[in-house]
Formats: sequence, C-alpha cells, structure tokens
Amino acid sequence: EEVINRIAAGEIVQRPSNALKELIENSLDAKATNIIITVKAGGLKYLQIQDNGTGIRSEDLEIVCERFTTSKLREYEDLKEIATYGFRGEALSSISHIAHLTILTKTAASKCAYKASYENGKLKAPMKPCAGNNGTQITVEDLFYNVIARKKSLRSPTEEYTHIMEVVGGYAIHNSHVGFTLKKFGENTDLKTPINSSVIENVRIIHGNAIARELMDIELHDSSLKLTLRGCITNVNYSHKKGTMLLFINHRLVDSLSIRKAVDSIYSTYLPKNAHAFVYLSLELDPRNVDVNVHPTKHEVQFLYEEQIIEKIKSCIESKLLSCNS
Ligand code: ADP
Ligand code: MG
Repeated sequence: EEVINRIAAGEIVQRPSNALKELIENSLDAKATNIIITVKAGGLKYLQIQDNGTGIRSEDLEIVCERFTTSKLREYEDLKEIATYGFRGEALSSISHIAHLTILTKTAASKCAYKASYENGKLKAPMKPCAGNNGTQITVEDLFYNVIARKKSLRSPTEEYTHIMEVVGGYAIHNSHVGFTLKKFGENTDLKTPINSSVIENVRIIHGNAIARELMDIELHDSSLKLTLRGCITNVNYSHKKGTMLLFINHRLVDSLSIRKAVDSIYSTYLPKNAHAFVYLSLELDPRNVDVNVHPTKHEVQFLYEEQIIEKIKSCIESKLLSCNS
C-alpha cells in the first residue's frame, strides 16, 4: 500500500515547482500577506515556505498529512463548487509520501508554536511545542528520495529553479497584495515583491521596466458564458523572442495550449516574425465548467465552452491592440 501511495504521490508532484504551487496556494488560502520561499538545489534538496497566515491548530496537526484531510469543505455541496481541479486534501499527504516534511506552525490563539515531522502521511514522532511566530513554515527535504524513477528523469537543479521562479513570479503578479520573497539558501534574494504592491509594479520588479512601461489593462465580463477576464498585455511596441504567457484560471496558475495559440495568432499580425508579447490573463470561470477529470497538477487545463471563451478573449485583446495602434 505504501508503494501505491508513493507512486500516486509521484504522479501528483512531478517536480519541485508542483509541490511549491500547492504550498503557495495553501498559504494564500490561510490569508497570508507575506510568503518567504527558500530553496536548495532547485528544491530537490530543500524547499521551505514560511507564511504569516492563520496557522494550523495543534489538534489538527496530527492529521493534516492524512489523505483527504482538508479544512476547506464544509458540506458535500461545496465539493461541486470548490473542487475545480478535482481534488482536495491531497497535497500535504502526497508530499509526505515522497519527501521529509516538517511543519512549524502557530495560530494567534495559541501560546506557543508546534513542530511536527511526517512520513507517509503520518506523524513521525509526537509533535513538540516550541517558539515561533504566527503562521506556518513548511519544510520539504529530499524530494523524491524514495522515488528512484522520478529522480533519474529529473533535469538539473538549475532548470528546476527556473520553474520555481516562474511559479513564484506568477503568483506574485497575480496576488500583488501579498509580499513574496524567493531566495536560494544562504544566498541573496532573487525575487522580492512588497506587501500591497500592484500588478504593474510586480511585473516591473520581476520582468523589468521594458515590459512594465508597455502594459495595458484589459477587462471583460460575459454573463452568458459566466466569465470574467482581467489582466494586462504589452502593446505592439514590445516584442521578445520567447515572450511570457501567465494564465490563471480561477486563481490557479495553469497552461492552455489553445489560449496560448489564440493569443499568439493575434499578436502575429503586429509583431515581427517569431516574436512574442508579455501576456498576463486572469480568467474566472464557473468552476463547473472547468474539467474536473483533468488531474489537478496537470499543467494543461481543459474547460467547457472553450471555443466561445477563446473567441471572447481574442476579441478583447484584438480591440485593445487596435485601439492603441490607431
Ligand atoms: P487542501 O488545501 O486541499 O485542504 P492540503 O493537503 O493542501 O489540502 O492541506 C491540508 C490542510 O492543511 C488544509 O486544508 C489546511 O487546513 C492545512 N494547511 C496546509 N497548509 C497550511 C498553511 N500554510 N496555513 C494554514 N493551514 C494550512
Ligand atoms: Mg492545498
């Protein structure tokens, strides 16, 4: 059974940045306003996330890594609404099956913090009271230490760190009210956004002023498709050989080849050949229209009414580019 759990966990967490995405979302769910991430060897050796959120109550700490343990569902009805990506309460459990996981946490109501280490979903030893600030610090060490296949197929720590930068940068732009810090253990900070910043300011910090000064806001509501689109895109003065596409669907960083293609096709009439734009899109859809059968950590997302939704996105971007270019 342990082996099966481990294989399943290795499917959910395919690389350090997948685990980090789950941990960041947990911190955001816990209303953190400041999130500090520290990494060794691209997150393969060490990945720590410290937040100033609500913390975990000591009585919950014992079961928090058991499968399907979640504090985020009250009734079954919620499931249809919340389970946009088809799973709940699996992230910490999965990570604990394929890494050494330690949680240090304190709620405002508690006099002291508690520290607990987990293995295969269970507490390794009784948790210990200790000193600590309000909030939660989660440390993931030796990710994939027991998943031989996964470790072999992994790319370099440098490449894993690039993915981590992308995830942290994306969430920092999308959640500009929250401060994000990313650093390698014992080294200088690579990325830092202030608390209560703005989207444009964070784009400037993370991607530079050449992009930030060419940004335009876009916004669209469509009640029949039940969609809201917000974001910012570069005008036609900016182009880059790689470009950047940041897509959030219902506040989760995802990828959609079809949206990517649609965006590229609009810009291709304005930009030089093989040049791309910077595009950040936040799409809010009825959760029931986002495919729950697609595995949660599959980066590629599927949703209903895709064609109509993509048409809306296209015409929104198209009219913005036209208006700035006339
Ligand atoms: P889910 O987020 O789907 O509930 P997880 O496995 O990601 O499942 O987390 C399990 C539970 O652990 C959460 O429901 C939450 O109660 C608690 N938790 C995890 N991370 C944090 C955090 N950073 N701050 C507060 N509570 C947390
Ligand atoms: Mg979670």
